Amino acid sequence: MNQLQQGITHWTNYINGEWVDSEQTIKVENPATGDLVGTIACASLEQVDEAVSAARECHNLRLMAGMAPYERMQLLHTIAAGIRALAIRGGQLLCLENGKPLTNAVWEFEEAARYFEYYAGMADKIEGKSIPLGDGLVDFTEYEPFGVSAQVIPWNFPVSLVARSLAPALAAGNSVVIKSPELTPLAVALLAQAMANAKVPKGAVNILCGYGYDTGAALVAHSDIDQIVFTGSVATGQAIMKAATEHVVPCVMELGGKSAGVVFADANIDQVISSAEVGNLFNAGQVCSAMSRLIVHESIYEDVKQRLITRFAGKSVGAGMDEADVTPILTKAQLDKIAAMCVRAKEQGANCLLGGTPVSRAGYFMPPTIIEAQANTDIAQQEVFGPVLVLMKFNTEEQAYTLANGTEFGLVAGVFTQNISLGLRASRALVAGQVFVNEWFAGGISTPFGGVGKSGFGREKGQEALYNYVRTKNIAIRLTP
Ligand code: NAD
Repeated sequence: MNQLQQGITHWTNYINGEWVDSEQTIKVENPATGDLVGTIACASLEQVDEAVSAARECHNLRLMAGMAPYERMQLLHTIAAGIRALAIRGGQLLCLENGKPLTNAVWEFEEAARYFEYYAGMADKIEGKSIPLGDGLVDFTEYEPFGVSAQVIPWNFPVSLVARSLAPALAAGNSVVIKSPELTPLAVALLAQAMANAKVPKGAVNILCGYGYDTGAALVAHSDIDQIVFTGSVATGQAIMKAATEHVVPCVMELGGKSAGVVFADANIDQVISSAEVGNLFNAGQVCSAMSRLIVHESIYEDVKQRLITRFAGKSVGAGMDEADVTPILTKAQLDKIAAMCVRAKEQGANCLLGGTPVSRAGYFMPPTIIEAQANTDIAQQEVFGPVLVLMKFNTEEQAYTLANGTEFGLVAGVFTQNISLGLRASRALVAGQVFVNEWFAGGISTPFGGVGKSGFGREKGQEALYNYVRTKNIAIRLTP
């Protein structure tokens, strides 16, 4: 799978059940130090072709699709156990390449294992319907796997997000080609070991690394894929949707967000502050469903603001290996972008209450940042993908909804109130795929997740997501009299 080269580990791709190297190599850096963590083979266009052919062959031979559902269930349980066995080693690798706290990195492997267990439980329950058409006819539906599922993964939760799409795809009987993120591909390459150990049929799971503009683009434009699942930025999602039109390939799009929490006058402020802390600072804000805006009733605005500043100012900034509260931004380019967005916010009249400039030290660190801004500023409209919270105030309920719904995104939203009727009314008024009440990031593997507007379409997680990976076939039979 990998060999030691000058003290660092070189990883290869996993195609048709084999570890395959390439001529071109991608270097993977530790964002906390700038040091090299490892290298990985960058799949060539021919290797993309080989991976898709292997997946097609696996599907044509019905190695996954024709497997008895209970065997698929057992296979997924074996994969889950294999992933769990890799958690400590994999977590250390993920912590180094991604920068996240070590405990969270180890947890990603646990979460990945749980995805496989969850969808293992569904593998033998993918049942169709019988449709009455009167005497002389029998009609029923069956769910069949698409065939070859192409899955493109971002870098922020690479292990968990691979599992989120791979587990239901396999449970439904598909073969899969995964394009891992070029910035954090190593822990995902390790996941392939769990596939090999579980004796996943040849070609059922292929894991390739490469750059988006060539390896990723070649995969999603391939004429022999049947489905695309993309998780990442809006711009890449748009490019992939264009590629998908060529061969009329269905897509699931899990894109970015600019999610808002709405804090009503009767909210429990302790809950608000704790939720803002986890919602905005978890993974240094590099989370699609981060709380990036907090819209607070004017009667409690000053109190919330002061308490947020105190709480955020007390957070440690440092490496994931040191379990710091706020870990690094993945790249220098992204750190510079965040800093530039903060400068632009001030130029547009926003008031920076805390942070706003990168921490001067090795690695790429942005301190917790709180900015009071008007709704029409760029900082209040665009995804930052960093530890930057935008504060806004409202007076009437209508105003709160207008502000919260006033971006082109709609991934998640939050409501803080002690009034259950208001909480429910607000949940319905907020335009988002998921609404948290008096918490942030509630839910988990079993709760459907996905966006509206530019946050995308389709739902991952939960029972519902399994149906992304199957298509309905209706069979109508006329009986002989
Ligand atoms: P990105 O769009 O830059 O890259 C995502 C993946 O797409 C990478 O593997 C990349 O190599 C690949 N890619 C890039 N161009 C491509 C192309 N033309 N064709 C095919 N593949 C291509 O996103 P990122 O920076 O890795 O991730 C951050 C973004 O992802 C944020 O916007 C975040 O909100 C979003 N995200 C969404 C979810 C969700 O579930 N909705 C989860 C995590 C991250």
